[in-house]
Amino acid sequence: MKSATLREPLHFEGVGLHTGTTASMDVRPAQPGTGYIFVSEGARIPATADYASESPLATVIAHDGTSISTIEHILSALVAMGVSDAEIEIEGDEIPILDGSAKIYADAIAATGVVTSGEPRPLFAPETPFELRDGDKAVVVLPADEFRVRFVGHYDAPIGTHYYDAVITPERYRTEIAPARTFAFLRDVEAMRAQGLARGGSLDNALVYDEEGPMQPLQWPNEVVRHKVLDLIGDLALLGAYPQCEVIAIKSGHALHTRLTRELRNRG
Ligand SMILES: [Zn+2]
Repeated sequence: MKSATLREPLHFEGVGLHTGTTASMDVRPAQPGTGYIFVSEGARIPATADYASESPLATVIAHDGTSISTIEHILSALVAMGVSDAEIEIEGDEIPILDGSAKIYADAIAATGVVTSGEPRPLFAPETPFELRDGDKAVVVLPADEFRVRFVGHYDAPIGTHYYDAVITPERYRTEIAPARTFAFLRDVEAMRAQGLARGGSLDNALVYDEEGPMQPLQWPNEVVRHKVLDLIGDLALLGAYPQCEVIAIKSGHALHTRLTRELRNRG
């Protein structure tokens, strides 16, 4: 597998999920070996677990007083769509939420195309299994020839238990995973609003469940767990290498994924 970057820079603009203010982002081509690097207010923060903080709601990286929140959707699209090197410049401290999925990113990357270099893409290809648990949540990483994810999500009614299993290829990612939207319970959205969070959240950028069921039509019966797969792929970007492995995730979220990537990097 060779390293690759975008053929042309991409520009995105929209509201930030938590701040509710306009956020903009430019994703630019970068040299082989750069990996993913965020640029904000002059600070350059590599998207690796070394700079990530464990946050239940979103993946956050920080360095020298600058922090960038909700990085998982753009990273997910870059990893899965075959881009190994990119510079991501943010205006403001949050990434635009767009429609709550990674569809706009994946489609833009597919439309622009990628340029492959002669350099090998750094791989994370473990030779032995690794697992991490936190109560009833678990992630297991197994040696594999390709990148495969199995996710079991379990939520309070009316969401319940959902399952998704796939080898991650750019085409499958773009059509079956990237369009799955961020989801939330209406009661949690109301509680977050009361704390000043989710100010930019609306039915245009999140799949919201009330006590009866989804308030908007679902794209798939298991859309919720497909979004969990989208988020997990973005969190695995913090390995700093392409995850050539099988990942089995049970009820896990950003905090456990961040711990996972940190421990795997430290393990060398
Ligand atoms: Zn997400």
